[in-house]
Amino acid sequence: MNNGPSPQKLSPGQIARRGILFVLSSPSGAGKTTLARRLLEVDKGIGMSISVTTRKPRPGEVDGLDYIFVDDRRFTEMREGGELLEWALVFGNQYGTPRAPVEGAVRAGRDVLFDIDWQGAQQLAEKMAGDLVRIFILPPSGSALEQRLRARNQDPPEVVARRMAAAAAEISHWGEYDYVVINADLDHSLASLQSVLAAERLRRDRQTGLTAFVREMQKSL
Ligand code: 5GP
Repeated sequence: MNNGPSPQKLSPGQIARRGILFVLSSPSGAGKTTLARRLLEVDKGIGMSISVTTRKPRPGEVDGLDYIFVDDRRFTEMREGGELLEWALVFGNQYGTPRAPVEGAVRAGRDVLFDIDWQGAQQLAEKMAGDLVRIFILPPSGSALEQRLRARNQDPPEVVARRMAAAAAEISHWGEYDYVVINADLDHSLASLQSVLAAERLRRDRQTGLTAFVREMQKSL
């Protein structure tokens, strides 16, 4: 395993550590996708986990960037072949997280951002609890959520109605998360996410290079 630069040359920002699995969940329409995009823009130390899905692409969505779009047969093959770290059925479509990129990133000390639902967060908690930081994004109110879903105007009305009904179910899982951000203001919510990330990066148990760093320091004391 690569432990980074030699201890003699280490500065605090370079200490080897495991990457964080930074999970954002919310009912759709709470601003999670926008927040995720903004976080990726301002923090170059975190990369997005790109899910596979059997859902059809929406206008503007790019295969390999927004999702990896696959058919049912391929999804089943990936799931049964152990290629997915977690998976779930959401609104009648299958979604899953490819395992290899996530495990590689965590070992290399790169943080990974997930836009997944409560079912996915639960499965990651069973498999990689020590690396996981879960954030639940709440809308400021039920009516704000409905407004955002209607303004989006990308899905047929029956889908919007289904998503409103599903929002209550998703929100009922808020207590399973480590942090909760009420997204009344995007800039403020983004700052909250950055604060959590900054603090979590400093956790002693993630910083696998600390022992070598301190040992080296003690030689000169
Ligand atoms: P959408 O179809 O609107 O992009 O996503 C629908 C829901 O599926 C969202 O709540 C999103 O967080 C969730 N989702 C997307 N990718 C995954 C995944 O890989 N695993 C799980 N468990 N949920 C996902």
